[in-house]
Amino acid sequence: MSYQWCHGPNCHTNSTVDRVRGSKGNKVLRTRKIKLTQWNVGSVWSVFCSQGCYTDFFYKHWQQVIAIAPRREALETPINDPYKENPESTYPQWTIEKKVVDNNSNP
Ligand SMILES: [Zn+2]
Repeated sequence: MSYQWCHGPNCHTNSTVDRVRGSKGNKVLRTRKIKLTQWNVGSVWSVFCSQGCYTDFFYKHWQQVIAIAPRREALETPINDPYKENPESTYPQWTIEKKVVDNNSNP
């Protein structure tokens, strides 16, 4: 298959000329077809035509999406004691250094 239909639940309701299909007197707004290219293959942009459609999908299905990988406990990243880079400054800058790369088993 060299294309996918956009999975945005409201894609077919957006009034844009490129979505208009059908014969005169029988026009419809149709879900966008997404061509698979080297730029979108293997990414969410192979199944969503826009940020809006991507967001609409998540807002509609977020409970099912979260059920796939629920977070039941907080994750932690070990750090060194934070220190001020410029303690005398009016706008001191805190520096926070990670001890190791985050290797939690349930990211
Ligand atoms: Zn779309």
